[in-house]
Amino acid sequence: MTALYEMTDPAAALFFHHEASEVIFSDGRWNEGPAYFPAWRSLIWSDIPNDRLMRFDEITGTVSVFRSPSCNANGNTTDRRGRLVTCEHGSRRLTRTEHDGSIHVLAERHGEGRLNSPNDVIVKSDGSIWFSDPHYGINTDYFGNRAPSEQDGAYVYRLDPATGQLAAVITTMVQPNGLAFSPDERSLFVVDTARTMGPDHPCHIRRFDVSADGGLTDRGVVVEASAGLFDGIRLDDAGRIWAGAGDGVHCYSPDGRLLGKILTGSAVINLCFGGSKRNILYMCAPKTVLRVPVRVRGIDLFATTEGAA
Ligand code: MG
Repeated sequence: MTALYEMTDPAAALFFHHEASEVIFSDGRWNEGPAYFPAWRSLIWSDIPNDRLMRFDEITGTVSVFRSPSCNANGNTTDRRGRLVTCEHGSRRLTRTEHDGSIHVLAERHGEGRLNSPNDVIVKSDGSIWFSDPHYGINTDYFGNRAPSEQDGAYVYRLDPATGQLAAVITTMVQPNGLAFSPDERSLFVVDTARTMGPDHPCHIRRFDVSADGGLTDRGVVVEASAGLFDGIRLDDAGRIWAGAGDGVHCYSPDGRLLGKILTGSAVINLCFGGSKRNILYMCAPKTVLRVPVRVRGIDLFATTEGAA
């Protein structure tokens, strides 16, 4: 039997070794951007080239199309009020789906130009929305619409949804991609997928200190990708980093020590924790979507909603 897991640190109790990753969807062209909505008991994700958002109903086990066309949506997340926030490659914008179903544009321009193609997004407990804007949705017609960049680089932005103020907060990365806060939100982890531009470029996770006013200090590389590429990352409530990689999912300590791997037999691009106990790991693989119960819990994204915008 092919190994399902690899334990680098046996003391880290991460997995149920009898549990194999289960395929919940196998009809995608390129799945990314999983986000779990506890109130609906549903996972939303993007099938980017097929121009659709998909929904998995955890109660019935059924998959259906949630929205099509989706403007070649990629990253999704929930904000602190349970609303869907979506990165759209095709329209080069960030949107929020309101409780009444209307779609509200949160950001589409920075300075004089359009954004490149928002890729991945997270929401801080103060309601601010942080997203990456690499070139993957404008490089080809597969993931979006081929077009020139109108920005000087590929940045990470912070959006204040109350004022609409958009600030480029990381301008030093080549192709910023997946991002995640630590449980105390004092650290921000960001993936640079620069290696997609050639083997001489890096692919790693960097850590930034986050000050009380949202300012960032680059603390350097936490870990270089050792198998394929990192893309999406999520942290559990103990601060461990879970990263999609070329051979499955890697789990690292906050300082970048490999603790273990889930070996899925294919690359995992994006992932998120879900289930009513946040102990189900959902993985976009990318032709399939998988899930597996784990021994840890993801961060509770609704724990600190007091006063959130
Ligand atoms: Mg991504």
